[in-house]
Amino acid sequence: MHRFNAARRSVITGLVFAILLVACGTDESPPTESSATPETPQLLSAGLPPGYTKTQYPIVLVHGFLGFDSVLLFEYFHGIPAALREGGAVVFTPQVSAINSTEVRGEQLLVEVQKILAVTGKSKVNLIGHSHGGPTVRYVASVRPDLVASVTSVGGVNKGSLVSDIVLGLAPEGSLSNTLLVSITEAIGALISLLSFSPDLPQDALTAQHSLSTAGAAQYNRAFPEGVPTSACGEGDYRVNGVAYFSWSGARQYTNVLDPLDPVLTLVGLAFGGEKNDGLVTACSSHLGMVIRDDYAMNHADEINQTAGLVNLFETNPVSLYRQHANRLKGLGL
Ligand code: CA
Repeated sequence: MHRFNAARRSVITGLVFAILLVACGTDESPPTESSATPETPQLLSAGLPPGYTKTQYPIVLVHGFLGFDSVLLFEYFHGIPAALREGGAVVFTPQVSAINSTEVRGEQLLVEVQKILAVTGKSKVNLIGHSHGGPTVRYVASVRPDLVASVTSVGGVNKGSLVSDIVLGLAPEGSLSNTLLVSITEAIGALISLLSFSPDLPQDALTAQHSLSTAGAAQYNRAFPEGVPTSACGEGDYRVNGVAYFSWSGARQYTNVLDPLDPVLTLVGLAFGGEKNDGLVTACSSHLGMVIRDDYAMNHADEINQTAGLVNLFETNPVSLYRQHANRLKGLGL
């Protein structure tokens, strides 16, 4: 136990250090919008042609459960909105409850989508959700498919997570040794506290955990089945009610020695007993619609270019995946 308390202390120290780095402005992500000089360069800063990410409909990025968008000093989708805007996309990053049920978050998002449509004069949006944002964007597409061109789930908790089962005390009996279970539970607690900066979980955390649990997700999927694979680990329908469905995810836990989240995600990832996962979600649970890939060498935080751009240097940069996807949507006329 002492070992894990020590690990937790070192993780907290590391995270505070990472935050200070960002606060001191050492973040190297380029201010892409302002880098477009009046002379208009031939290519974007990523070497791509102008208009590469210029989708017909606005792109709406929706954050996940842990809600560090609201407490840390940097954006949740680190550097991603700017990269998409540089290539011509119109991007929105609405706030929904950091910790709440999928349905509550979905209703909040629907209101935000309607505002976005009013502001832009467009008829539809492209929704991209990370983690709990995956099921959340699916809600809007399910109840108002007429307002949605596409749904994309990144590291989405579409079939729940054993991590939430453990938080709720619902881990299958005998699935893990008691010692490991205690360690993982401690690490999850540390992770949630770290990212929310709240030593005690808010009351609605239980509702959120239910949504993210295996049983809660199955219940949700029966009510909102669009794009969800009917097999254990296959693909889902590519198009439902006129909405295109996509997903991708990572399947690695430890990717960058400088990122203080990596040791925690590595420990939590042990919950899955060797099944392919990104530290919080299994590859199979992330599947929705067309599976672009489910095994990038990225962990759950890398998928949104966190912590502050500390990602796997030997893998495609996560920002590039969002750019490529915007280009894919553009190519489909979305
Ligand atoms: Ca990382």
